[in-house]
Order: sequence, then C-alpha cells, then structure tokens
Amino acid sequence: MLQKPHDTSRCPETAGRAMDLELSDHAGYLRPCFTFGIIADVQYMDQDDNSNYQKTRTRYYRHGLDLLRSAIDEWNKEPVPSFILQLGDIIDGFNAQQLTSHLSLQTVLGEIEKSKAPFHHVWGNHEFYNFSRDYLKTSKLCTKQLEDETVPSLRHDGEDFYAYHFSPFPKFRFVIIDTYDLSVLGRETAKEKYQYSLKILKEKNQNEDLDDSDFPEIQFVQFNGGLSQEQLSWLNKVLTYSDENHEKVVVASHVPIHPQATDSAGYAWNYSAILSILHSHTCVVCCLSGHDHDGGYFLDSHEIHHIILEGIIETPPGSHAFGTMHVFEDRMILNGRGRTFSRVISY
Ligand SMILES: [Zn+2]
Repeated sequence: MLQKPHDTSRCPETAGRAMDLELSDHAGYLRPCFTFGIIADVQYMDQDDNSNYQKTRTRYYRHGLDLLRSAIDEWNKEPVPSFILQLGDIIDGFNAQQLTSHLSLQTVLGEIEKSKAPFHHVWGNHEFYNFSRDYLKTSKLCTKQLEDETVPSLRHDGEDFYAYHFSPFPKFRFVIIDTYDLSVLGRETAKEKYQYSLKILKEKNQNEDLDDSDFPEIQFVQFNGGLSQEQLSWLNKVLTYSDENHEKVVVASHVPIHPQATDSAGYAWNYSAILSILHSHTCVVCCLSGHDHDGGYFLDSHEIHHIILEGIIETPPGSHAFGTMHVFEDRMILNGRGRTFSRVISY
C-alpha cells in the first residue's frame, strides 16, 4: 500500500495529554448524557502472531480475543455504557482459507454475549472475506433490528445496503453506513452492483493486483469501497431529519471517510461525494471508523471530527486499544485505553 507523506497534525501526543486533564476536570463534576464504547479491527483468528502485508507491523491474531474480553470486562463495570460500537473486521480474512470462519465468529460472539451493553456492529472488508452479504444479513453481526423505527419515512427496506440509524438519547443520533455498498467484496458476481463496482475499480486501478494502490487515486483498491447513490440519498434524508430536529449526529463506518485522517490508502472510494453530503448539513459532529490500524484524527473545514480507532489486531500484549466516549451537550470526551488517544470533541 502506498503511504502518503506523514501529516504531523495527526495524533499529537501532547494534545492527548492535555485532553486527559480536561477529561478528569469534566468527569469530576458533570454527569454525561450517556456514554458508549468503541473498538475496532479485532481480526481474531486462532493462529500465531505474524506480520502485515507490508511486513511493517506484527499482527497478534490470537491475543485479540483477550483484548476484546478485557474491554468488555471494563465496560461491564458500573456505569455500563448505553451501547458499544464495533467498527468492523471482527475476525481475520485468513479464517476463510483455514475453513475456520464460523468457528472464529462463534468464538468472538461468545465473548460479546457477556456484554451488558448491546453491540452495534459495522461491517468491514474482513467480514466479506469470510462471509457473503446474504449470510451476514442473517447473522448476529447484523444489528439492524436496533434501528430507530419511530420515523417510518427514514426506512430503506428495498435497498441492498447495511445502514441504519438510532437515537440513544434525545437530540443525538448515530448513523451506521455501509462503506462496502459499492464493492467487489461480498456480492454475487452476477449482481448489478458487483458489475458496476468492478467497472469503477478497474477504470481507476490498472494494477494486476487490485489491492495494490500504486497509482494516483490510491483509494481505489479492493480492500476499500464506497456508498451507492441510493445510500447517499438515504443518508441525506436522515441528516435532513436531524437538522430539522436540532440533533447532533455521529456517523460510523468501517472505511474512513476523510483522506486527511489517515496516512494510508485506506479511505472511501467516493469520499468526496460522502463529504459533500455531510457538509451540506449542520448536524454532523463526528465520524468514527476503523480499518487503518494506526488510528488517526482530522478536524475538517466544517468542524467535523474524523476519528480512526487504533486496531486491536496490531496491539501488542501489555497494551490495549479501545475507548469509552462520554457524551455531553456541548462535547464528547473520549477516554482512550492503551494506544487509543483520549480526546475532547467539541461541537
Ligand atoms: Zn478493514
């Protein structure tokens, strides 16, 4: 994967420490409206540690299960968060080759069942390396049943993408979007969306290996994806509703949306179309994603905070990578553990 020049504005260590101080100031006298947990890229598999594709990082496949378990143990202590956002890639793609996809999924779901807080699952590329979209829809990784059904006009039942919204507290809404709606992963090759996605990918990426990002528009690789026009229209409808009702919105996806939040090629194919929808509304305060295991942060021109959570899979024993977000009327405070930075997200 092509690495972009390092942006020194990302993850400033001193800023993390300053925010820790602010967190303790706040938590001391203010009770949040609600809290939620976030965790990303567990990529569990019962196999020995190994390096990533670029041979630059170690991946701790087996250890991820212990980290998931200990994050849930912490969240299970009072006060229990309202919900947990699992930002995708819960098991590793190599499971498919070893025929252990179902066993590994069962193992991680066994841990998740011990959580007192409900999980909202986002789907990543590794979900599609292991399972078809049709299988995922019927699995416990589909949490669309937790959708807010009080606004029937925002339903999109006829469309084939995994996206929904929910409101855990008055005036706050979370929108889970499907960044593999346009993708060659997980869809039957005969389906129109597969053919359309393959056409876009091959037009932009002339490499033999479609995971190779050695060309100008580096995001057009097989391990990323994008949003269809239908999903963009649905997102626009939800955000219009939130604008009208003076809500604050958090958008959750597996693939990051803003290129400047990451040093890697790992961002959405049609990020500019997604950003123009987000920027045409006043309600969006934050976008949360996974996929880039190094994590990242960028505050964009419309004051939207883009946070990429550090991946469990590349977190060594003795460290951790998850967070608990404390949501107040005018800010959210991310209490990060281990590699995950603590941050103040003002809005
Ligand atoms: Zn991923």
